[in-house]
Amino acid sequence: MDKDLIIESAAKLKKAVPLMMKYKVATTPLNYSLWYSYVSNDIPELNEKLDDLIANHDVCPPIQAESLYREFVADKTESSTWELRQSIEKMLIELDQTLIDTDSDTDKFQASVDKTFVDIHRAEDAGYSIDEVIGLLKKLESDSKNMQRSTQFFSNSLAIAKTEIGSLKEQLKKSQKQALYDSLTGLLNRAAFDTEVSLYLSKDNQGLCLIMADIDHFKDFNDQWGHLLGDQVLKAVGRKLNDSMRNGATVYRFGGEEFVILLPKSNLRIARHFAETLRKTIEKLTLKDKRTAQMIKNITASFGVSEFAKGDSLSGLIARADEHLYQAKRLGRNRVLPF
Ligand code: GH3
Ligand code: MG
Ligand code: MG
Repeated sequence: MDKDLIIESAAKLKKAVPLMMKYKVATTPLNYSLWYSYVSNDIPELNEKLDDLIANHDVCPPIQAESLYREFVADKTESSTWELRQSIEKMLIELDQTLIDTDSDTDKFQASVDKTFVDIHRAEDAGYSIDEVIGLLKKLESDSKNMQRSTQFFSNSLAIAKTEIGSLKEQLKKSQKQALYDSLTGLLNRAAFDTEVSLYLSKDNQGLCLIMADIDHFKDFNDQWGHLLGDQVLKAVGRKLNDSMRNGATVYRFGGEEFVILLPKSNLRIARHFAETLRKTIEKLTLKDKRTAQMIKNITASFGVSEFAKGDSLSGLIARADEHLYQAKRLGRNRVLPF
């Protein structure tokens, strides 16, 4: 981490927090980013609008602050989650630094208080009256209290900001996760598949195989048992498939009741065999409807398999697996094609 950058950002932080206090701005992650941008001074239009708001309201109205954030800050930083994450991590380090700075300010003040005490002792020799000395002490005491209060206040606000940035970091982690994982089944999602497959295709993809799986008559589950139970079936099938992955195979939820499996360094024969194992596993799957206590048994899926060929494209690979899947459905479902 660039030390100058930390110092610079810590300085911005020291400016931002008191401003937020002054304008009674809640120390939320959003506001924190907004005011950080404000003191950074790199979006003149944002500063202008924020100045305008403050001038007209004396405080910063939360909804307007939020829309300013969305307009100027959000899509600039959030355009890349990674970048935002980086900047938040940087901010956390800066915050630590600022807290250390504040502590050292307190130490400095303590030293100055000590020195004043020495002076007061000297004043005794110089023949100051008791009242004069008490006056000095009282002043010292009130100065000390004020200083402590402001330091305390500053430390507190920083600690709050720190907690909130921590939670923002959590949120980001979650949203990064959401970007890759399907929320219902917990499997990797279509976007993850697209990223992964393009990586495979950009290097040696000899033996790369693809399996498309589609639950049979899934609509009937929804119709007969309700959508929520349909979800349970999807989850159970997803978990079973995921638990069955071997030798570098990865399963993704492709969409709806369709799953796609990538098998690197394989061949059509192995992939077909693997798909057959998966088919049998799903066939054995049973589920209990908690409301009616009825067992749901007839869960099956059809599979289409394809192998990467020279000069192939991703769409070619998918299209062939899809075509085989379609045949499997036509031939009566609960089967793997090609034979
Ligand atoms: P086939 O054997 O030909 O594949 O028949 P099917 O009924 O499985 O296929 P169809 O494409 O007709 O229906 C798929 C159904 O899957 C329709 C849709 O409502 C349902 N579905 C898609 N995503 C979800 C989901 O997340 N949850 C639930 N409960 N249902 C879903
Ligand atoms: Mg389907
Ligand atoms: Mg289906």
